[in-house]
Amino acid sequence: MVAVMSTHTRLCQVVPLLPVSRAYTYRIPSGLSPRIDEGSRVVVPVGSREVVGVVVGWDGEEQVRIKEVQGVLDPEPALLPGVLDLTRRASQYYLEPWGLYLRCSLPPGLRKGRGPVVPMTRWVVYAGPSPQLPTRRQRELLNRLESVREVPLRTVIAEWGYGKGVVDRLVAAGWITVEERESHGPLPFPLSPPQPPLRLTPEQEEAFRRVENALGDFTPFLLYGVTGSGKTELYLQWGQRCMEEGMGFLLLIPEIALTPQYISRFTARFGERVGVLHSALSPKDRLREWLRIRGGEARVVLGTRSALFAPVDGLGLIVVDEEHDPSFKQEETPVYNARDMALVRGQIEGCPVVLASATPSLESFYNAQKNKYAMLTLSKRVGTPMARVRVVDMGQEEGIFSKAFLHGLRGALKDGGQALVLLNRRGYAAFLLCPKCGETVRCPNCDITLTLHREPLLLRCHYCGYSKPPLDRCKHCGSEMRAVGLGIQRVEEELARSFPEARIDRMDRDALRSRQAHWEVLRKVEEGYTDILLGTQMIAKGHHYPRISFVGVVLADVALHLPDFRAAERTFQILTQVVGRAGRGGRGMAVIQTFMPTHPSVVWAARQDYLSFAAEELERRRALGYPPFSHMARILVTGTNEDRVEDGANKVAGLLRRGAEGMVVLGPAPAPLYRVRNQYRRHIILKGKRKALLLNLARLPRRVGGVHVKVDMDPYSML
Ligand code: ADP
Ligand code: ZN
Ligand code: ZN
Repeated sequence: MVAVMSTHTRLCQVVPLLPVSRAYTYRIPSGLSPRIDEGSRVVVPVGSREVVGVVVGWDGEEQVRIKEVQGVLDPEPALLPGVLDLTRRASQYYLEPWGLYLRCSLPPGLRKGRGPVVPMTRWVVYAGPSPQLPTRRQRELLNRLESVREVPLRTVIAEWGYGKGVVDRLVAAGWITVEERESHGPLPFPLSPPQPPLRLTPEQEEAFRRVENALGDFTPFLLYGVTGSGKTELYLQWGQRCMEEGMGFLLLIPEIALTPQYISRFTARFGERVGVLHSALSPKDRLREWLRIRGGEARVVLGTRSALFAPVDGLGLIVVDEEHDPSFKQEETPVYNARDMALVRGQIEGCPVVLASATPSLESFYNAQKNKYAMLTLSKRVGTPMARVRVVDMGQEEGIFSKAFLHGLRGALKDGGQALVLLNRRGYAAFLLCPKCGETVRCPNCDITLTLHREPLLLRCHYCGYSKPPLDRCKHCGSEMRAVGLGIQRVEEELARSFPEARIDRMDRDALRSRQAHWEVLRKVEEGYTDILLGTQMIAKGHHYPRISFVGVVLADVALHLPDFRAAERTFQILTQVVGRAGRGGRGMAVIQTFMPTHPSVVWAARQDYLSFAAEELERRRALGYPPFSHMARILVTGTNEDRVEDGANKVAGLLRRGAEGMVVLGPAPAPLYRVRNQYRRHIILKGKRKALLLNLARLPRRVGGVHVKVDMDPYSML
C-alpha cells in the first residue's frame, strides 16, 4: 500500500473497528481532506450508527448514496504504515476480521470517538555538527547527547546539571534543537538507578555481533540459550545498539514474566526511554504509554503479546523472549500468535527478529535446523554451573514428598536458601470420587469434574467458574466421597505441616485472586522474606533469584496425559524452566517426582538436555505428521443445541472434504471438553500445507444451521 493522495482524491476506504474484514468507501469533505492520511482514525456512519474506523486506502467506487466521513480524530495518523499493514496481514493469515485487529492495535482509550488530550514537554534533540565549535562545557553535554540523541530538557537541567544558558547557546549554534512534545504525566513504573553494561562473554559477544551485523534487514534468528546464560543482558545491549542508531527496540515477553524485576533491569539502562505495554495497566496508563511510544519518547518497548502492535516508529529489532510460551497465542477472537506475527512485522519493517528461549518451540527449532532461522547459541550459564537434578520414582515412595525431596528442601532451608515447589494443578484435590460406585461430581454447564478447593471450601469448575459446596456422601449410593488426585492447596497444607518454621507463599490463579498480585509475591521472594514459594507453572518463568537453592517438582506427570500433541513438549519446557531456577547464586539442586521416570520429557529435562529432547520429539512428530511437519487448523463448531452442532459439524467437514486437495481432514469428533458453559462442542482438525488450509478455510461460512464455526489457525489448545 503506497500512500499517494492527490489533491483530487475525494474518496477514502475505511475499515470500522467492528467484526468486518472489508473496507467501506466514504466521501471526504473538503475541510477534512488535509488532515486525513492512511492510518488516520475517523468517525464514519455505519448503518444508523457512528463508529470509529481507520483509513486504509483511497478511491473506491463513486456511488450515488455514498456517505461522508464525519470527523478526523487525531492530528497525526494513529496507526503507523507498518502497523496498518500488520493488521491486514494478520487478518489474512488467521481469517479473522480486519476491523478487530485494528481495534487490538489501539489502546482502549482510542477505540472510541475521542482524540487524546495531552500536555506538552520540551525535548533536547541532537542535530549534528555545526561549523561553530563548542566550548569545553558544551562539548561535554554534546558527548552525552550524541549517544542518547534526544532527552527531555528537564533531565538535562535537573539530572545532568547543565544551565539553561548552555542549552540556549548550543541551539543558537545549530548543534541541538529543542522541541515541544506531548507529555503524559508520571510513568506507571519506577525508574531504577543506572547500571552500566556488563562485559559480554565470548558466546554473548558472538551472538551480539551477528545480530548487530543484521540490523537494517529482515533476518530471523533463534537464540537458544540455557537458563541463566545471560540472554537478558544481550537484549539490553542490542537495545543500546538500536538507540545509538536512532532505531526503536521491541521486546515481547509472556504475560506473567513481566515483573518489576524485568522492568527495573531495563530502566537501569534506558531510564525514561522505556515504554511498557501490558493488559494489567489501567486504561489510562495504557493510553499514556501508547502515546509516549507513538510520540517517540519511549523507544525501548517491553510488552506482552498485544505490544506486537506497539507504535514504535523505525523499528531496529524485535526480540521475543521465552518464545515457546503459549501465552503469546491469543485464543479469543481475533486469534493471533504474537511470536509468529513478530516475524511478519520484522518483514514489514525490514528489521531482524530474535526468538529466544532455553526451550525453543519445536516449530522454531525445526526452522533453525532447516536454516530458515539463523541459530545463536549460549550453551553455558554465566558463572554458576547448572543445578544437580534427581528423578524420584514415586511408585517406590509413600506420601506426597519423597525422602530425597524432604532432604533437599530441609538442607536448603538450613543453609539459609530459598525453595521453589511446583505442582501444576490448582485446587486441593483433582475431584471427589465415590469409592463404591465411581460417581463423581460434575459441572452442570460443562462436561468436566469439579475441583475441590479449600479456603473457601468449595467444588469449582475451572472452565466456567461455577461453584457449590462439596458433598459428604454419594448422591447415588450414600457412601462417603473421597478426594482423589493431588492439588496445590493440599501440598501447601502438607508443607506447612512438615516445615512449621518456614514462611510459605503460594502463587496460582486462585491465590492471586484472593491475596495479592503476582509481583508482590515475587517481591517477597526477592527480598528474602519467603522461604518456600509454591506454585503452578506460573513460577517456572523467567525470574532470576540467586538465593533459590532447591527446586522440587511434586508430580511431573500432571499434564502428560492431556489429549494434546504438545503435552510432552509443554511438560519438558515447564520442568526444564523450573529446574533452571535452582542454583543461580551458586549451589543448587532439584528433585523431580514422577510415576514415569523413563518418560523422555522427564529424562531430558532432568539432564537439562534440550537438544536430545528436541531430536527425539521431532522424530515422533514427523512420524505422526504433526507440526512442524504440517500446518494445522482446528475448526470448532459450537452451539446450545446438541443435534444442530452435530449436523453443523458434519456439514463443515463435508465442505472441507470436497475441497480437500493438499490437506487431511480429521473428524468431526466431540471435542475433549464436549460441553463448556452449556455450549456443545465438536471439532475438525486439518493438517496440510498452509496455502491449502488458507484456501479451503477462506470459503468456510462462519455460521451453519444456527451454530457457530470458529477457525483456529496453528491451534495451541486442543481441548
Ligand atoms: P537469562 O536471561 O539467560 O536467564 P540473565 O540475563 O538473567 O540470563 O543472566 C543471568 C545472570 O548472569 C544475571 O545475574 C546477569 O546479571 C548475569 N550476567 C549475564 N551476562 C553477564 C556477563 N557478561 N558478565 C557477568 N554477569 C552476567
Ligand atoms: Zn463449568
Ligand atoms: Zn456412590
